[in-house]
Amino acid sequence: MSNTPPTSPNGKDRSKKGLPGPARWYWFYILLLALILLPYLFGKGLGAKQLNWQEFEQSILPKHAVERIVVVNGQTAQVYIKPSFVNDPYFREVLKPRFGSGIRPGPHYELAIGTIDLFERKMADAQRNTADKEKIPITYETTRNWGIAIFEWILPLVIMLVLWRFLLGRMGTGDIGGGSSIFNFGKSTATLHEKEDKSTVTFDDVAGLEEAKTEVKEVVDFLKDPARYTRLGAKIPKGVIIVGPPGTGKTLLVKAVAGEAQVPFFSISGSEFVEMFVGVGASRVRDLFRRAKEKAPCIVFIDEIDAVGRSRGRNAFYTGANDERESTLNQLLTEMDGFSTNSGVIVLAATNRADMLDPALLRPGRFDRHIYLELPSQLERKAIFKVHMRPLVMAGDVDVDFLAAQTPGFSGADIANICNEAALIAARRKKDKIERVDFMDAIDRIIAGLERKSKILSPTEKTIIAYHEAGHAVTSWYLPHVDPLSKVSIIPRGKALGAAWYLPEERQLRTELELTEKLSATLGGRAAEQLVFGEVTSGALDDLEKVTKEAYKMVAYLGFNEKIGQVSFYDSTGTYESSLQKAYSEATGRLIDEEVRKLVDKAYQAALELLTEHRPQLEALAQFLLKKEVVYQEDLVGLLGKRPVAEAQVIEGPQSH
Ligand code: ADP
Repeated sequence: MSNTPPTSPNGKDRSKKGLPGPARWYWFYILLLALILLPYLFGKGLGAKQLNWQEFEQSILPKHAVERIVVVNGQTAQVYIKPSFVNDPYFREVLKPRFGSGIRPGPHYELAIGTIDLFERKMADAQRNTADKEKIPITYETTRNWGIAIFEWILPLVIMLVLWRFLLGRMGTGDIGGGSSIFNFGKSTATLHEKEDKSTVTFDDVAGLEEAKTEVKEVVDFLKDPARYTRLGAKIPKGVIIVGPPGTGKTLLVKAVAGEAQVPFFSISGSEFVEMFVGVGASRVRDLFRRAKEKAPCIVFIDEIDAVGRSRGRNAFYTGANDERESTLNQLLTEMDGFSTNSGVIVLAATNRADMLDPALLRPGRFDRHIYLELPSQLERKAIFKVHMRPLVMAGDVDVDFLAAQTPGFSGADIANICNEAALIAARRKKDKIERVDFMDAIDRIIAGLERKSKILSPTEKTIIAYHEAGHAVTSWYLPHVDPLSKVSIIPRGKALGAAWYLPEERQLRTELELTEKLSATLGGRAAEQLVFGEVTSGALDDLEKVTKEAYKMVAYLGFNEKIGQVSFYDSTGTYESSLQKAYSEATGRLIDEEVRKLVDKAYQAALELLTEHRPQLEALAQFLLKKEVVYQEDLVGLLGKRPVAEAQVIEGPQSH
């Protein structure tokens, strides 16, 4: 804490003035209250006695004591009594003043009248026998109650003043992280991470990603010591784009850059630029870069840049082009061109769809460095596990190598999640240390969702599920090119009623045979139902979806079909993604559909045949599942026999891809 004198919200020092701020406001409130109450304290109507018509007609009128009547606002009749009646015992009370001597000024009585009409009629009736001369004069007056009037005027004024002060206050403080007040919706909503709360992430916290780290280290070096580069005339990249699937550590890498370089960093998500109002995005971009330049050297991090940087003109077919996004993108391009290369602002952007980005954004001088992040390999996963296990209290039996082997296809974020989940599970089990079994359960939970043992299934349903899962297991067991099976369970998890776990090998390439066998294994569940029960259930929805997608991929994208030939309709640029147009003719479309159907049918037949052949094993496994609910790899060997080994597929090398 610093010991500078306290300042008011809008920055002015109050101690210079005689009165401290709040005291001045008290005076204002007291004055206001006095103004409002004044008319009530000294007002005209004060002290008049309230009457009703009967009293007035019977006790006052007959005495001929009324001097005049004033009807105020058509509601109240104010009665003035002649001063000469001051000694009359009846009127003394109202005519004598409370203090001093003389006559008290009227009105002396007040009575509520219904309507003016009614009152006049009653008066006329009451004075029927009175001579015209002596009739009581009635006048009409419209007055305002000043108390209420002032209130009516002052209150809105006060409300406005208070509101104004509030908004001004917001404007004063709304400079950073604003965007919420009506005055600064054009301002950038980027959050500034200043030195004080600067990123504490370092490269040590980023496991694996060695190539990416080498690339960004240069950015760190430049931010730390720009002279070393500029002296040699080198130009530093203005923008670095980090591309990779979600959870692979893009944000983490940027945080590490900021943490290592010890510079402030602005972070904003691409979607925050695009708002409902046209022009807001562009002005936010301008504002962001203005602020960044003030803070240079610094890092601007734009997450999900595809929200603004998507190829222009795409989807023009039915959206009529998204003007707002385009103008935002144009502004971004202009800004990136606008600041000189060595101004000390480096823009880092992250996306998982680099193919969607506008080529203009990627050209030299803008985001000219591209860093590709992949899902981590087994070694990298091991390193990531180690990073996230650092703060955990671990038991000795946890084998990091084993965990890394069990988690193919997991991203860094998944692994971070597993570690946390394992800790939670261990805590729930009231353990002192996190054990291997907690990690295993955490992995299962993340792959397949939480076990829901409470889900009610009828015995028939359970049997069907057992045969369905056994069908997957048996087909994949006897098809040599399918990934090895590690576990089968019929405990409902998440939405699934049962599940089979595979250990995919880490390879980038898959052969046609492997993919076809995988189709059969996926259809094995339904085939088992067909074989055993003679009818099929809705339980295969998920399998069928997978099979359909995979089969279309094989036929239309991978060139695995003879009739379609070596053509691929895969569209990495996404041009056709959302248009109604197709990249192929209708005849080809029909052929693709036909071939997909043939392929799937063949795979299904293969599954049926395999299961017929191994019917005893299918029965044995299903019964085992019904008894134990879970089957592990060790038991599978006992039940199904040794798994046939795939003959090495001959791929003559060397080949380049
Ligand atoms: P994204 O690529 O979607 O931006 P993040 O950078 O936000 O992913 O990663 C999410 C979390 O995953 C990180 O906070 C971190 O805990 C974990 N993580 C991802 N990759 C790694 C890695 N290489 N090393 C350590 N942790 C990682």
